[in-house]
Amino acid sequence: MNKLGILTSGGDAPGMNAAIRAVVIAAQQKNIETMGIKGGYQGLIDRNIDRLTPFNVEGIADKGGTILKTSRCLEFMKEEGRKKAVRVLKEFGITLLVVIGGDGSFKGAEKLHHLGINVISIPGTIDNDFAYTDYSIGFDTALNTILDSISKIKDTDFSHDKTTIIEVMGRYCGDLATYSALAGEGEIISIPERKLDFTTICSQVHSKIASGKQDNLIIITEKMYDIEELKKYIEERLQISVRTSVLGFIQRGGSPSAFDRILASKMGVKAVELLTEGHSGLAVGIKENKLISIEFGNVNNILSDSYEKFRLLDTFSTFNKGDQVLS
Ligand code: ADP
Repeated sequence: MNKLGILTSGGDAPGMNAAIRAVVIAAQQKNIETMGIKGGYQGLIDRNIDRLTPFNVEGIADKGGTILKTSRCLEFMKEEGRKKAVRVLKEFGITLLVVIGGDGSFKGAEKLHHLGINVISIPGTIDNDFAYTDYSIGFDTALNTILDSISKIKDTDFSHDKTTIIEVMGRYCGDLATYSALAGEGEIISIPERKLDFTTICSQVHSKIASGKQDNLIIITEKMYDIEELKKYIEERLQISVRTSVLGFIQRGGSPSAFDRILASKMGVKAVELLTEGHSGLAVGIKENKLISIEFGNVNNILSDSYEKFRLLDTFSTFNKGDQVLS
């Protein structure tokens, strides 16, 4: 009987459990035994591996986080660590591997593929920072979590005529900021793909206030600025008081949305299908509502994705022309 190993790696994302469940069930239907590798690549190196049955994954699809736990593993970054990982896989008789994670985890998976392991990756990251797929598992849930916070912040901003800077996650990708600003009626966004300097942000706030909009939301992606410096800059220039809110790790948790659970289920089944057809070195994705698979080497090809992203930014600007006068 073939044995399939599964691990979650890097930052956790809501929906990873639904993907694990899908893989285990799909594998069993093909008479393949699933081995759960606990704690990402570190767990693999440490032989933290146990059998996973459909019974073990019952009732997990609605849980955030990952039952397999996750980690960041420095040892795996080195060739010796990866060779050790391959030895462990062989020792356990694992011939097929599913890796669920983000960009870094995919790079690790690619290296295992080159070391002769049959591996398929599933994108699990709230950041949505893969170019080859329209969505990664966890993005939709995180987006809705952000929207929930935005909605609450807007209530009090409106009552007090306040401007708030909200910092959201995304690493080096502005999707969470862009989508949440569009859906949550934010006024200004600054994202890595289209970064605004302090002066521009300030003048956009100024023109909003001049047009009669006193409460304004500025949504920015993490790692771009010191949010407190930006606040101070606007306060000094415009003589208003500005609030800041760093949403932080609440964005990573929570019960996955229906969208993420369904996406994860589809991707999990697809990953098993690809492995049993003899494929390796592929990442599963979704493009225009169709499941796709793409070679690891192409996951960061950003051409088509950036085009869609910039169209979304243009849509956002439609709602936020600086000179719009409210009546
Ligand atoms: P994510 O998968 O969410 O992007 P990381 O970038 O932290 O998270 O990557 C997760 C793990 O994947 C790392 O801790 C490391 O073990 C492995 N990894 C990341 N980059 C590489 C690489 N270039 N080569 C081999 N393994 C890598």
